[in-house]
Amino acid sequence: MSRNDLSTLTNRISGPASRAWDVGDEAARRILKGEDIIHLGVGDPDLDTPKDVRVALEQAVEAGKTHYAPIPGEYALREAIAEHATWLYGNKVNAESVIVANGAQGALFATFQCIVEKGDEVIVLEPYYATYPAVVTAGGATMVSVQLDLEEDYKLDIEKIKAAVTKNTKAIIVNSPSNPAGAVIDRDAVLDIAKYCHENNIWLISDEVYWSHCYEDDHISAYAHEEYRDRIIVINSLSKSHAMTGWRMGWAIGPDHFIDAMTNYSQAAQFGINQFVQNAAITALKDKSTTETFRALFKSRRDAFCDGLRASNHLKFSKARGGMFVLLDISATGLSGKEFAEKLLDDENVAVVPGFGFGENMAHTVRIGYLCDEENLREAAKRIVRFTEKFIR
Ligand code: PMP
Repeated sequence: MSRNDLSTLTNRISGPASRAWDVGDEAARRILKGEDIIHLGVGDPDLDTPKDVRVALEQAVEAGKTHYAPIPGEYALREAIAEHATWLYGNKVNAESVIVANGAQGALFATFQCIVEKGDEVIVLEPYYATYPAVVTAGGATMVSVQLDLEEDYKLDIEKIKAAVTKNTKAIIVNSPSNPAGAVIDRDAVLDIAKYCHENNIWLISDEVYWSHCYEDDHISAYAHEEYRDRIIVINSLSKSHAMTGWRMGWAIGPDHFIDAMTNYSQAAQFGINQFVQNAAITALKDKSTTETFRALFKSRRDAFCDGLRASNHLKFSKARGGMFVLLDISATGLSGKEFAEKLLDDENVAVVPGFGFGENMAHTVRIGYLCDEENLREAAKRIVRFTEKFIR
């Protein structure tokens, strides 16, 4: 029966990506029933939030930080984010350029509510993070996907982007290091795209949630280029850098009029963010050693996992330069990513994410997070290789 009692928005946010985590959810159910499964499906580090941040949260609650916070965020937190951003980008960022949000996801959703409408086009680079289609189309815009090549390690190709730009292009999303492929945009390409967006009056949305997980290079952001900041919006959070996914603590950085619009949006959508969480987040932002420890840990995990996968000549992947994931091209098996993920769970007790949510052309891939200790990762790689070989003729 067709239904017309829900808004068209509900259709726009129910694309393929909304089903991308089904295999992971099934794995979680089996784990609850006592099955021994290596779960590499969700982008949630297996690490605890640092102790001093947890203590800061308790102290904030005891100190009575249990009220409405100012809508754009506690001023002390906006200052701490600005200080952190100044350190990261090497150029002064002011507290007034920052708005606090419900994780990077909340910041992304709010951003597209504030910058696009029907008729606008937004360019994304494929493979892209699975929630981008919903946030873009929820805002009313049309998503235009530019495919990057595995053979070139998903290198950002500015000419391909320029070819996709029309008079309706309102924004381009970049995500470096990227989810799902671990691609990192190099210094020259970052500069090119920042300049291009500035000159062509296009918003550049820079999703930097994996900034702390760069293994070969320093984190490079368009926001370091002060002269182009009028067209740049940074999206960031503490989820990955400080193992704080459940805290839902993120932010956006951008021009004043954008921050004003986001403040009105936040007032309408959530009336600000939990005050005690904001206070504890200040402690996290001052802690630089945790991010360094996590970076070194994930780098050795990546190496162990990728070395294990190389035992097969039939799995193609780009060695992730950053982030927490490897995107495997499993076309040699003749299975779709969905079939591969479902059968792998049944036959080998390893949970991965089918790639169809990361782009229209990604159905032959699976995303795997190197999200547990090295021993388990080596074991998972062994099982994935064994499973793959079964389908090679
Ligand atoms: N962007 C990317 C690329 C991500 O991978 C994620 C989370 N997996 C987010 C945004 C959202 O992160 P948060 O937990 O801060 O909402």
